[in-house]
Amino acid sequence: MKLAEFIVPLLIGAVMGSFLNVCIYRLPKNESLIRPRSHCPYCGNSIKFYHNIPLISYAVLKGRCAYCGHSLPIRYPAVELTAALLSVLMYWKFGYSDKTLFYTFLMYTLIVIAFIDWDTNLILNKVLITLAVGGGILNLSMQIILWRDAFLGMAVGGGLLFLFAVLGNWYYKKESMGMGDVKFAAVLGLLLGWKLLLVSLYAGYFFAAIYFILLKLFQKQPTKRIIPMGPFFALGVLVLVVWQQELLDLYLALI
Ligand SMILES: [Zn+2]
Repeated sequence: MKLAEFIVPLLIGAVMGSFLNVCIYRLPKNESLIRPRSHCPYCGNSIKFYHNIPLISYAVLKGRCAYCGHSLPIRYPAVELTAALLSVLMYWKFGYSDKTLFYTFLMYTLIVIAFIDWDTNLILNKVLITLAVGGGILNLSMQIILWRDAFLGMAVGGGLLFLFAVLGNWYYKKESMGMGDVKFAAVLGLLLGWKLLLVSLYAGYFFAAIYFILLKLFQKQPTKRIIPMGPFFALGVLVLVVWQQELLDLYLALI
């Protein structure tokens, strides 16, 4: 692949990242994604299109609103950059193919789920439905995975996490895991198939455990905050979608 080939996925990703920011910010508040136009969260002024160029505007304006000068969250360019890099990564992995479209759609939706869950501890039904329907249609038309695997994946993902939720609630005598995680695992199973789903969930728990240990080691005041699993499952899916073969080879070399 030539380096110039990556310009298109990079640009599409940055522009989509800008839209994903709007989703992350507005969907939990039940606001429309279309109206009103993007505005500064501090002074309320509408953002002109030339102040809304992904990544570039933030850099040119040095992370400040063009009207009131208030510094804007680093989250905005971070989401745009993440979407751009994941688009490039999917193109690098799957090339000019149906799979790139399918997995890029998956990654964009995972960004929205991960950030909203991180902020609110919620995985919104409307995002899950978008992922299930959009991903399902793409899969049906492109035959990314077999339908038998997809439905088995949905049953395994939903069933397994439901079991964890029931056991967790019984053990801790309170709600330890939200139903959002159960539905999320079911939808991931539908799109990934049961094998890839299981290792992705496993990787997700592994990343969450590392985060938990680091938090215990470096956090001065312990917080009562429940760690949302959405971002970690999303990370697990990303790693397994891109590096499943390498991880399998590594695993086989180790045993
Ligand atoms: Zn402003």
